[in-house]
Amino acid sequence: MRETEVAVLRRRLAEMAQNLWWTWEPEAIEIFRDIDPDLWRRSSHNPIVFLGNLNDSDLATRVEGKAIESRINFQFRRLREYLNSSQSYGQKHAGPLWRRPVAYFCAEFGLHESLPVYCGGLGILAGDHLKSASDLNIPMVGVGLFYSHSYFSQRIDESGWQQENYPSSSTETMPIRRVLDGKGNPLIVAVRTGDHDIRLQIWQLNVGRVRLFLLDSDIEDNDQTDREMTRVLYGGGEAVRIRQEIVLGIGGYRALRVMGIDPAVLHLNEGHCAFGPLEAVRLRMKEQAEDYRTALENVRRRTVFTTHTPVDAGHDRFPPDLVKANLGWLIAELGIDLEEFMALGRTRTDDHSGPFCMTVLGLKLSRRRNAVSALHAETSRRMWKSAWLNREEGDVPIGHITNGVHVKSWLAPSMARLYVRHLGKVWETRMSFYEFWQDIDRVSDIELWEEHQVLRDQLIRFVRRRLALRLARLHGTDPAHVTVDALDNGILTVGFSRRFATYKRVALILSDPDRLDAILNHPERPAQIIFAGKAHPQDHEGKRLIQQIFEAMRDPRFRSRIVFIEDYDIWVARHMVQGVDLWLNTPERPKEACGTSGQKVLLNGGLNCSILDGWWAEAADGLNGFIIGDDREHADPAVQRARDAQALYRVLEEQVVPEFYDRNEHGVPACWVRRMKHAIKTLGWRFNSDRMVKDYLLELYLPAAGGKSCAF
Ligand SMILES: *Cc1c(COP(=O)(O)O)cnc(C)c1O
Repeated sequence: MRETEVAVLRRRLAEMAQNLWWTWEPEAIEIFRDIDPDLWRRSSHNPIVFLGNLNDSDLATRVEGKAIESRINFQFRRLREYLNSSQSYGQKHAGPLWRRPVAYFCAEFGLHESLPVYCGGLGILAGDHLKSASDLNIPMVGVGLFYSHSYFSQRIDESGWQQENYPSSSTETMPIRRVLDGKGNPLIVAVRTGDHDIRLQIWQLNVGRVRLFLLDSDIEDNDQTDREMTRVLYGGGEAVRIRQEIVLGIGGYRALRVMGIDPAVLHLNEGHCAFGPLEAVRLRMKEQAEDYRTALENVRRRTVFTTHTPVDAGHDRFPPDLVKANLGWLIAELGIDLEEFMALGRTRTDDHSGPFCMTVLGLKLSRRRNAVSALHAETSRRMWKSAWLNREEGDVPIGHITNGVHVKSWLAPSMARLYVRHLGKVWETRMSFYEFWQDIDRVSDIELWEEHQVLRDQLIRFVRRRLALRLARLHGTDPAHVTVDALDNGILTVGFSRRFATYKRVALILSDPDRLDAILNHPERPAQIIFAGKAHPQDHEGKRLIQQIFEAMRDPRFRSRIVFIEDYDIWVARHMVQGVDLWLNTPERPKEACGTSGQKVLLNGGLNCSILDGWWAEAADGLNGFIIGDDREHADPAVQRARDAQALYRVLEEQVVPEFYDRNEHGVPACWVRRMKHAIKTLGWRFNSDRMVKDYLLELYLPAAGGKSCAF
C-alpha cells in the first residue's frame, strides 16, 4: 500500500474518531477493533488514543491483511451521508427550528465512557437526547460544562469500602476541539460572578449532526480559584455550585450568542442551568430596548423546563446572601431589586426569607414544564403546588414526557443484526412505531433464546475479567494468573446497578439472607446477582450499602452467587444491560422519577422486575416483565420496606424462577420467551429516545418556537 493511500485511510479514521456517531454504529466500532483488537483494548476503546499508538506501517499491514480498507471507505461514506442526508424526520417536521435551533442546557452529558463529563442518569438521558435529536435531524445545540477531572473512578478496598480517585482527563485524547475566534485564537467569553469576571473557553463536540458546547474556566487568564471552579462535576459546596450554575446558564447562553447562534427555544434540562433565560432577558433589554417585564415574558414564551427528581436534595437552593454576592450585577442590570429577584426562586410570594431554588426558577421562567414519567408528574404537582396558590393540585401546570433511551447506544450488535435479519434495516427508523414491533413474532423462540444465551455468556466473561483485575490489584499479582470461578453461565442472571442513593434501596434483596440463600442456591433452579454502582463521595450511608454487599459476598453461601463490579460507568452498564436475564429495580416509590436503566434491557431481550415506580408504573402490564408489590405507598418507610421485601422474594420464588426454568423439548423456556417478545412488542416502541425527542418536538419545542403566548 502506498504512503499516500495510508495517509488517506488515516485521515478518514481520524475524521470518524472526531464524531461520536461511531459510538452508536457497531460497524464503525468493529473497524477500529478489527485493525488491532489488542491495541483497541489497551486504548480503552478510544479511537484517538488508538490511532495515536498505531504507526503507518502497522496500519498498512493490518488493513491489507484483513481487507479492512473497503470497510473503512464504506463507513466513512456512511458518516458523510448521515451528516448530509436530507431525508429525515426533522426535515419534514422541525419547521421553524431550521432558522433557529433548540438550545438544550444540562449540567452533565453522558455520551460515551471516553468522555467522563457525567455522573449518572441525568447525564445519560441528556446524552441520549442529543443522539436522537441527531438521528431524527432536529436542529439542536447542546450546552454544558467541561469538567477536566472526571466524576470519580471507584475502587473497593478489602474491607468493602469505596475509595474514590479523580483522574484528570486529557483533552488531547477526547473528540473535542476548542472553538476559535476569527483570528484563530481560542474564543473566550467572560461572565461576572461576585466582583470580577471569570473567563471561559469553549469546547465543541460533534454528536452526529448535533454540536455540543462545553464551557471550561481552567485557563491561564483566571486565578487559581476560578480555574478550579469547573474541574469537578457537582463539586464543592454551595459557593462553588452557584458559580458553576452561573457559568452554565449565563455563560452558556452568552457563548451561543457570541458564536452567532440565536436559539429559538431554550430547553432547561433540570434546574442547574435555569439562570440561562435571565441572560436572554438581559440581552433583550439591552439590544431591543424592552423593559424587564416584556423581555421576561418574551423569553418565557420560548423556554421549556424539565424537572428530574422528587428527591429534595436534588434541588439546589441558595441563601439570599450568596445570590446577592454573586449576582448583584445582574440584578442591577435587570433593573429590579433583590427581593423581586429572590421571588423568582421562591414558590410563595409571602416568603421573604427562604432560599433561592433553581427548580422554582426553572418552573417560573418557562412556558411549559414537564416531569419525566406520569407518576413523577403527579409527585411534582404535589411538590410544587405552592407556586400556584390559586390552583388545585391536579391543575398545577406540570405535564410529563416519559424518558427513553437511545437504543443503538445500548443494543448488543448481535441483537441489531437479528432485527435487521428479520425486520429489515428500517428497524432503525421505525423503532418508535407500535405496529413495527408486532413483527417480532417472526423470530422463532429458539433463535431469540439462543441469541440471548450468547449475550449472557459474554456478560459473564466480562464480569470475570473485571473481577480478576480487582483481585490482581489487591494481591499484587498478574491478572492473567488469577482464576475467577464466580458465576455460572447457564443460570438465571440478575443485574442490579445504580447509584447507591438511599431511596434506591439497593440492599433490599439482602434483607432476608436465608430466603435469598434458598433462591440463589436452589439445587435445580439456582440464580446469581451482579451488582454495580457508585455512592456519592460524601454519602456515608451509600458507602455502607456497598459494604453490605461485600459482607454478603463473604458469606460462603453467596461467594460464587453474588458479585460486585467496580467503577460503574457507561461501559459497564452497556455490558450488563445486554447480558442479564432480569433487571432488578427496588426504589422507594415514588422517588424514582423515571429510571432509564431498565429501558436499556428491553430490546436486548432482558426482562424487568421492578417496584411500580417511575416508567415501570406506566409500562408494566403484568406480562411484559414482573411487578414487585402493588401501587400502595405506606407513610412509614420501614413498613413499606418490609412489605416490598416480602413482595420481592415472592415474585422471585413464585414467578421469575419457575418460569425461567420451565423448559420445553428444545430447552427453551417458552413462557419466558413469550414475555421477552411481549416486552419488545409493548415497550420497545415507547421507551426509546426517538419517541421521547419527537414528543418534545411536537409538544414543547414547536409551540415555543412559534413564541405565541401560552395559557400559563
Ligand atoms: C442508564 C444509566 C444510569 C441511570 O440509571 P437509572 O435506572 O436511572 O438508575 C446511571 N448510570 C449509568 C452509567 C447508566 O448507564
